[in-house]
Amino acid sequence: MIMNCREIRTGKQRSGILSIIALLMLSMVTGCSQSNPNQGTTSEQSPQAQEAASTPSAQSRKTKVVTTFLPIYLFTKAVAGNVADVEILVPPGTEVHEYQAIPENVKAIATANVLVKNGLGLEEFLENTVKNAQNPKLAEIDASKGIKPLNEISPVVKTVQEEEDHEHTQGNPHVWLDPVLAKQQVINIRDGLVAADPANKATYEANAATYIKELESLNSEFQQTLQKTPSCTFITFHDAFPYLAQRYNLKQVAVVQIPEDQLSPTDVQNAVNAVKKYKVKALFSEPGVDNKLLSSLSKDLKLTLRPLDSLETGETDPQHYFKAMKANLQTLETSCK
Ligand SMILES: [Zn+2]
Repeated sequence: MIMNCREIRTGKQRSGILSIIALLMLSMVTGCSQSNPNQGTTSEQSPQAQEAASTPSAQSRKTKVVTTFLPIYLFTKAVAGNVADVEILVPPGTEVHEYQAIPENVKAIATANVLVKNGLGLEEFLENTVKNAQNPKLAEIDASKGIKPLNEISPVVKTVQEEEDHEHTQGNPHVWLDPVLAKQQVINIRDGLVAADPANKATYEANAATYIKELESLNSEFQQTLQKTPSCTFITFHDAFPYLAQRYNLKQVAVVQIPEDQLSPTDVQNAVNAVKKYKVKALFSEPGVDNKLLSSLSKDLKLTLRPLDSLETGETDPQHYFKAMKANLQTLETSCK
């Protein structure tokens, strides 16, 4: 259930300006490295994939749309409604950052009309998977088309030297956590679906318009609430919120690359120093992450540890985006007071 482990363990140093601070040692990784993200999905997806492969015409003639991971699934499902079949490759609860494709993913793409991805280098598994699927009629939608990625907007404090490989060259991929950029993603998805399936243009446009309206009112809600706490600085252990922070004038200090050792007195002191240096108001973990070292650290820092949702996992109802984001807003409001 632990997500974002890749970033926690091997997150990228995006700021060369800041000194490296051994900030934390925590064992969020206990849930990370051991879990095989691909287990449990096989039985679920393979019947679908097989069915689709063996009886293409017995099913409806609906456009088959394959999406990569949760937020992209939510946005695509919202736009597609019931006129297209929408599937997800990376099941919720599975770590997207270091996802390894399984044979069912190849089958799903091989029989799909459309593939929707977040882009910005997030779905590293995709290129080979698409190649292996050998589907010449596949239309690909890059939901982040036209979005200018951020690279070093927030201070990133890393705890140990990182390996040189795995550097994200395409910037931070977490654009869906900014409602304004989420709207751009929905527009890209809408336009891609209309191009691939023009017969249902009116439905895609109407569905997208409804969802966009909700995104716009979510944006207003964020603006109104967070303008009361300008420059509120928070620490996360997943570099997922630089777009959200930039949009609403908050400051994220992302602490990444956590070694799998014990918390030492020096680490605690370094964490305390970082909190003072950045005048940190809040310490955020993620929903479902119950970590003893993090909670004891939060006590040492006299900061309440609260969950901030990156939406990389969660419910598959398109409305879940708003539910989770409103919970995030409440968390930010409470923490930044
Ligand atoms: Zn992430």
